[in-house]
Amino acid sequence: MTKTTSLRPGATIGILGGGQLARMLAKAGARLGLRAHVFSPAADDSAFEVCAARTLAAFEDQAALAAFAAAVDVVTYEFENVPAETAAFLEAHSVVRPNPRVLALTQDRLTEKNFVRGLGIETAPFENVESVDMLTAAAAGLGRPSILKTRRFGYDGKGQIMLREGADLAGVFQSLGGAPCVLEGFVPFAREVSVVAARGADGGFRAYDVCENVHENHILALTVAPARICAQTAAAAVEMARKIAEASDYVGVIAVEMFVVEDAGGERLVVNEIAPRVHNSGHWTLDGAVTSQFEQHMRAVAGWPLGSTHRHGARVEMRNLIGDEVEKWPELLAEEGACLHLYGKKETRPGRKMGHVTRVIAED
Ligand code: AMP
Repeated sequence: MTKTTSLRPGATIGILGGGQLARMLAKAGARLGLRAHVFSPAADDSAFEVCAARTLAAFEDQAALAAFAAAVDVVTYEFENVPAETAAFLEAHSVVRPNPRVLALTQDRLTEKNFVRGLGIETAPFENVESVDMLTAAAAGLGRPSILKTRRFGYDGKGQIMLREGADLAGVFQSLGGAPCVLEGFVPFAREVSVVAARGADGGFRAYDVCENVHENHILALTVAPARICAQTAAAAVEMARKIAEASDYVGVIAVEMFVVEDAGGERLVVNEIAPRVHNSGHWTLDGAVTSQFEQHMRAVAGWPLGSTHRHGARVEMRNLIGDEVEKWPELLAEEGACLHLYGKKETRPGRKMGHVTRVIAED
């Protein structure tokens, strides 16, 4: 591996995946003179129209991967389900940031939870489930409600089912395809928050304000920064993200989703999920912080100093435009103070993220 790990303006960042996250990464990089080369198997991906170079090929196509690795100065990704073989192949031919070991950690909920617990950080109680018998035993231990989640390939509530009293366990297990799962005890959270942060190639670490997330139909609907949590809890949340980033020798933007539980002792944090990439709950930083999460990620993978994560205004809101909600674009364009972001997707489908709008609120 002869490639330099601290790049100059004009260098090319290779991005695996071509959705809206890659699109916003490419745009942020372009502002700093960094070229984006997007690799995706989907011809109508929305990043293709804003990048400097493109490869339309399958992630298993080694000739295309080799040409891509030769054409870029560093490789990054916009989603965590990059096949392990693809990541390993690219690592042998280029620099990959964040390192592919992080993909292996986060692609499997069981591995991820064991890793987080190993750092002394609380997760929901969980059990590995690979058969109906294991599910029966786990459900007896964790009680109801509890949530059965496939270990791999779950997102936006897909691949998970809430178990209630009297549920037909064999039927539920089969409905997830009999795939390896984890059963999680239900966490009676007061709110959901996330830490979006970055670790640089030099080990430097910077976090944005902890933000609060509201989901509708399992899809993120609204993010507000800062979260309504006490300063001590916010500091603890950031420390957890730092610990996770350091332990995985992370380079780039990372998001850690957490539940805030309120009990007699005050607020307690329970880590739910790690996203080894820029994250929807960090979109508010596009208009609401000095350095957006997209610029921050490009800086980190280029080996550049991280930028300021300082927030503008008293509060920043980000609302997703899901499915038909995107049709509100004319009124959002007319709204004073609304910053509209449309992803250029050709087809509107229910549940599909079509864009988002941010609002910086100067004073509460
Ligand atoms: P996930 O796919 O793990 O991010 O879960 C999607 C959403 O389901 C979370 O954002 C929560 O709203 C809810 N959820 C997931 N796991 C739990 C849990 N163990 N207890 C309570 N709610 C949960």
